[in-house]
Amino acid sequence: MIDARGGGLGRRAGVGAGGLGLTGVLIVLALQLLSGGKFEVPDGFDPSTAITAGSAPAPSSADEDSLAQFSGRVAADVQDVWTDVFKQSGESYRRAKIVRYSQAVSTDGCGNATSAVGPFYCPGDERVYLDMSFYRDMRTQLGATGDFAWAYVIAHELGHHVQNLTGTFDEVRKLEQDDPSVARGAQGTSVRTELQADCYAGVWAHAAYGFGQLEKGDLQEAITAAEAVGDDRLQSRSGSVRPDTFTHGTSAQRQHWFQVGYDSGKPSDCDTFSPGEI
Ligand SMILES: [Zn+2]
Repeated sequence: MIDARGGGLGRRAGVGAGGLGLTGVLIVLALQLLSGGKFEVPDGFDPSTAITAGSAPAPSSADEDSLAQFSGRVAADVQDVWTDVFKQSGESYRRAKIVRYSQAVSTDGCGNATSAVGPFYCPGDERVYLDMSFYRDMRTQLGATGDFAWAYVIAHELGHHVQNLTGTFDEVRKLEQDDPSVARGAQGTSVRTELQADCYAGVWAHAAYGFGQLEKGDLQEAITAAEAVGDDRLQSRSGSVRPDTFTHGTSAQRQHWFQVGYDSGKPSDCDTFSPGEI
């Protein structure tokens, strides 16, 4: 695991975001386009509201170190599951790197990001960037249950990595070039991409937890918390609300698709791009 904590940029680190679009029937995903043609998949926040990052490095605490271990364990477990899944299809899974950060981080593939973006995956450098302050907010709100919510967030981000490896992102990019409007809206490729990542998180949970061990309430709480924390952060830190409430789908949609992956354990069931309503 790479530790980029304390890497405050000390200046405004804007992350450009561009719309993708959605297509009538055949669908794909949503990517956030950066001005340089690179994109990232931020989670929970509108990256256009990136805030000024503080320059003081985040102090490293024992609590944070154990969190680092926990995050590393979860990420390794999720990637072990995907290694097996890929192997079953005769493919090999290329592991993503996990980077922890606080306040701000400079990426190789997606420019600079601040904690306003939250946890995100950068397809350009195949890294998952975990915002530690996001975890702390969630833990404060949820207590011990926050750890499951955090694990879900990590699994969701690695779900985006899977989408990158399987070529889904490329398909979306092609669609977007044809019609930049396909990403938007409640049925757009952006939402479908996010819901598929939720479903992929469910695929991991299927392998990680025995059937029936996860209560519906656990999941609901985790997803609600992740969203609530995201909204709270946006509003408190930038003074503005998230403009696109459809980016991740509704809570009910997210729970539904996580459940689909959790029940079957098969990524092929995560067909959020099939024609029709999601
Ligand atoms: Zn996502």
